[in-house]
Amino acid sequence: VKVRVLGSAAGGGFPQWNCGCRLCLGVRAGTLRARARTQAQLAVSARGAAGWYLLGASPDLGSQLAACPPLHPRGPRDTPIAGIVLGNGDLDHVLGLFALRESQPLVVWATERVWRGLAEGNAIWRTLERFPGQVRWERLVLGEERPLADGLAITALAVPGKPPLHLASAPPSAEDTVAIRLREQAGGPTLVYAPTVGGRTPLVERLAAEADLLFFDGTFWTSGELGGTAPGAPRAEAMAHWPLSGTGGSLELLERAPGRRWLIHVNNTNPILDEDSPERASVRAAGVHVAEDGLAVDTDEEGP
Ligand SMILES: [Zn+2]
Ligand SMILES: [Zn+2]
Repeated sequence: VKVRVLGSAAGGGFPQWNCGCRLCLGVRAGTLRARARTQAQLAVSARGAAGWYLLGASPDLGSQLAACPPLHPRGPRDTPIAGIVLGNGDLDHVLGLFALRESQPLVVWATERVWRGLAEGNAIWRTLERFPGQVRWERLVLGEERPLADGLAITALAVPGKPPLHLASAPPSAEDTVAIRLREQAGGPTLVYAPTVGGRTPLVERLAAEADLLFFDGTFWTSGELGGTAPGAPRAEAMAHWPLSGTGGSLELLERAPGRRWLIHVNNTNPILDEDSPERASVRAAGVHVAEDGLAVDTDEEGP
């Protein structure tokens, strides 16, 4: 499988436009050893295939596609994007759909819950419904593997989450937030994309144990971190993000996971963004990487 990390930050990116915290100031000024990051976005493709699937649809998608030549059109009115897989309805994971509104037929894979949140009662959605078939929905049912093109298959697996902020009045559903497991049917590695994980469950443990390539929620280092920059902000868990540090933190789980592991969806307040920080050193010591924009992973394992 081929993986391209087009974006690796949480909502708002790094630096965030309205943030002057130590990290955002430092990366703007170039006084901190840290890399700027756009909002989390993956693109994946099967070995030897030309089509790509987007995991998520980041608000930065337009510039992210421009920066990734394999995703450029090969002729007039063309795209190698074979489909878009949505794991939740948060705006930083779906707004990019509206950057793809130029009359290109699109296929969107999502749970019924995430799909309805987008397509129902949303006047702006009509820009993606200008002709029949502009956007086709493929329903993801929890735990059911679905085939994509090129021998790939995906499964949506419920992880602790929440409805998006703009739909917070709706009762929570297990379909609000899913991890995406992707594999090549002919064998080869299993990839898990889980940028939003609200805590530990037996399924989360299993995903970490079986992933050969794991892209996991690296949003916050501590539970109260956002409150340090934005007083009154909710704790990490209330935003469906499991903090990394301390006893019971996600780094304990990730340290023991057997595959290659990256943190993604890193918030601009997270001290691991500072490459010289002790927090970054503990992540490194756990054998875990921090995903960066532009990262390319190409596995060439033969199937069993
Ligand atoms: Zn997010
Ligand atoms: Zn900041």
